[in-house]
Amino acid sequence: MREQILALEQLARPLEPEPVARQALTERAVDYANQFLDGLNDSPVFVAGQPDPEFGPDFEETPGDFEQMLARLKTEIDTPGINPASGGHLGYIPGGGVYYSALGDYLADVTNRYSGIRFASPGAAQLERRLLDWMAALIGFGPGAGGDLTSGGSIASLSAIVTAREALGIRSAEVENSCIYLTEQVHHCITKAIGIAGLREARQRIVPMDAHYRLDAAELARLIEADKQQGLRPWLVICSAGTTDTGAIDPLGTIADLARAHGLWLHVDAAYGGCFLLCEEGKRRLAGIERADSVVMDPHKGFFLPYGSGALLVRDETKLANAFAYEANYMQDATAAEAVPSPASLSPELTRPFRGLRLWFPLKLAGLAPFRAAVEEKLLLASYFHSRIASMSGFEAGPAPALSVATFRYVPASGDANAFNKRLCAAIQQDGEVFISSTTIDGRYILRLAVLNFRTHLHQVERLLELLPKFARQLSVSQ
Ligand SMILES: *Cc1c(COP(=O)(O)O)cnc(C)c1O
Repeated sequence: MREQILALEQLARPLEPEPVARQALTERAVDYANQFLDGLNDSPVFVAGQPDPEFGPDFEETPGDFEQMLARLKTEIDTPGINPASGGHLGYIPGGGVYYSALGDYLADVTNRYSGIRFASPGAAQLERRLLDWMAALIGFGPGAGGDLTSGGSIASLSAIVTAREALGIRSAEVENSCIYLTEQVHHCITKAIGIAGLREARQRIVPMDAHYRLDAAELARLIEADKQQGLRPWLVICSAGTTDTGAIDPLGTIADLARAHGLWLHVDAAYGGCFLLCEEGKRRLAGIERADSVVMDPHKGFFLPYGSGALLVRDETKLANAFAYEANYMQDATAAEAVPSPASLSPELTRPFRGLRLWFPLKLAGLAPFRAAVEEKLLLASYFHSRIASMSGFEAGPAPALSVATFRYVPASGDANAFNKRLCAAIQQDGEVFISSTTIDGRYILRLAVLNFRTHLHQVERLLELLPKFARQLSVSQ
């Protein structure tokens, strides 16, 4: 048997490249990254087309060729579709991918410290905890708050709803008589999470909104009263601090008053809007968020991290701990009598990537000032775009942007406005210089500018302001 073990050891050797080979591979990967970054300004933000249908994990028993793999990476993955790293990406909220995070991920992957349990890596666990403390302080939560670094806003929202369900003791038998309040504009991950959390049968009250797509607090109060009178159990209100569609911020303070008066859990979805707390203007617009019971914010949005970074913050950490407490015999060395809970005790996840470095590196290496400036710049870019498009003949602007999303459309002299705007959106996208998206609000096809990439500056927004009338004119003529 020894012979056989030693033979297998030889065969398994390539899993640990020799230093020279390792260096060569790393240099090639870095070259690729540099070429990608240096070429960003000259590359289209959108390329229509599909990868080679044959492209996939063409494994063989023997080692592959890195050069060929990088060539495939470029043509099959890094070319077709939307390039979210491009400053011309004005279509959806998450983008960017700040370089410093890649260094954090690289080192976290090489050292592979396990941050889930303090016993395994007290330093990694402590860093993640302190990062969450920092985010909790940004929200304005007091001592006793806690949280979880997640893969994104969707999972963080699911954990928030489960935490609320456990904190209010909503048992399965009570679900159908329990009431959850939200608006039509909540992110779809919320309705998904309600279903996954076993709450599909709860009465979901869709609270009417005002003209700016904000939850109408007077309507919320009426609905809660009516439900109570019927003997139902109101327990959860979900509001948005920056909706995906329009960036609208619900009246957080008034909703917090109602939640407190009626004993409801207040969840604030700030997956998109939370980052604006970094600047004074954003803090002013998000006032009241500090009164939430739980808040979701996504570092892979306005902190410009690469995808895979969300966060849940809960005012009272013990509520989070209660929702995710567990015991397992095989964990007895690791979690016995922890004075401070480990990340895994506050999360549905056990084994997870060490997410702390990708957040710590950029905020520390660049310092906070550039982050504060960048989010303020995004607010102003959206306002600037809004005021320019509002004064442009033929265009109609949506409400003044609450954050960095602006909606607008072209109103053609004749014909179907929805079909026209659909064609206008496609024309901008196919052109490839800047990328915008669309949404449907009250049955109307609306164009949407979402500025939240750290590489987006005035010149891309001004370019969009040149292209929109140009394409609108071309489409009008060809009608
Ligand atoms: C992006 C977003 C989400 C979902 O977060 P993911 O990180 O994409 O899972 C939820 N709510 C809002 C308001 C968002 O903008």
